[in-house]
Amino acid sequence: MPEILLDGKGYALADGETVLDALTRGGAAVPSSCRSGVCQTCLMRAVEGSIPAESQKGLKGTLQARGYFLACQCMPGGTLRVERPGAEAGRLSATVRAITPLNRDIVSVALECSDMGDYRAGQFINVFKDGTVSRSYSLASAPGIDPHLTLHVRKVAEGRVSGWIHETLRVGDTVAISQPLGECFYLPSDPEQPLLLLGTGSGLAPLYGIIRDALRHGHRGPIHLYHGSRHKDGLYLTDELHALAREHASVQYHPCVSREEPSGDLRRGRVVDLALGDLTALAGWRVFLCGHPDMVQSARKRLYLAGASLKDMYADAFIRSAA
Ligand SMILES: Cc1cc2nc3c(=O)[nH]c(=O)nc-3n(C[C@H](O)[C@H](O)[C@H](O)COP(=O)(O)OP(=O)(O)OC[C@H]3O[C@@H](n4cnc5c(N)ncnc54)[C@H](O)[C@@H]3O)c2cc1C
Repeated sequence: MPEILLDGKGYALADGETVLDALTRGGAAVPSSCRSGVCQTCLMRAVEGSIPAESQKGLKGTLQARGYFLACQCMPGGTLRVERPGAEAGRLSATVRAITPLNRDIVSVALECSDMGDYRAGQFINVFKDGTVSRSYSLASAPGIDPHLTLHVRKVAEGRVSGWIHETLRVGDTVAISQPLGECFYLPSDPEQPLLLLGTGSGLAPLYGIIRDALRHGHRGPIHLYHGSRHKDGLYLTDELHALAREHASVQYHPCVSREEPSGDLRRGRVVDLALGDLTALAGWRVFLCGHPDMVQSARKRLYLAGASLKDMYADAFIRSAA
């Protein structure tokens, strides 16, 4: 039976188990969150033995070359000696510079991190509550516009990390974060291409970065942003987004509510229904989808059927942690 060796201790790998399963079952403290190969929290390094190629999918070439792999995706055929990631795998330290309410449930958290280097608006980082518990949060900030990294964190009932961020984290605290991850960002490859951005709840975070980043790069094509919530008090940054639409004729901002009668400029309905009602043919559009996984999955399918190409769709589904 294959075995995982960590810190001088052996962990037998049962049939169908991943490295992460075996280590956590054996009581080893290994950080993890999504357990589906997205968040990269369970990054580990193999120092002896061979790792399957699929456990390195999505990692930077430099990390792959040094034997890094995702423990949640790794089912080795033989014994593997592993170690926890070193500093070169990108665990960074950030200082909390501001925590500001955006609505009843969502706070904006501004982080200063001098080692972050380049990042793209719309990517996400993992925020570590402690040595083993972390969660992914999208970057609402845009490089060259915002002085700090900014997150929009919604408080989830009984949520270990979102609760800690809302209730315990204070300005001046230091937190461990990951390098920026993910492919949901704007590329200035085609400045005339129409852009459609759909988000629900704190799914506005990456879209708020992406829309401002696109404009900063001189994007000239039409940009439609649909932000949805069940109720009006779930929307936020409405003044800022209305101002952006006033400043840029190409931008159309649609705040949407699905469970109450709208007032003023609010629209009634789900973001994907409203977008598909307004924009019937989506061939040639670039699409960004962020927020609740069900919304992302169903929107992806329906927008594809309306002509959007899968290669032009970028999505961040806020999948729940399995850890
Ligand atoms: C790529 C990515 C980007 C993300 N970006 C953001 C972001 O910008 N802003 C943001 O607020 N979140 C974001 N998330 C979600 C975030 O990572 C956490 O899952 C969320 O904050 C809940 O974590 P927690 O530790 O507070 O709750 P947990 O301790 O993990 O869960 C506590 C309880 O709440 C339930 N639960 C967990 N999540 C939800 C939910 N979303 N709705 C209802 N119940 C839930 C769990 O099933 C459990 O019963 C993102 C997720 C991913 C994968």
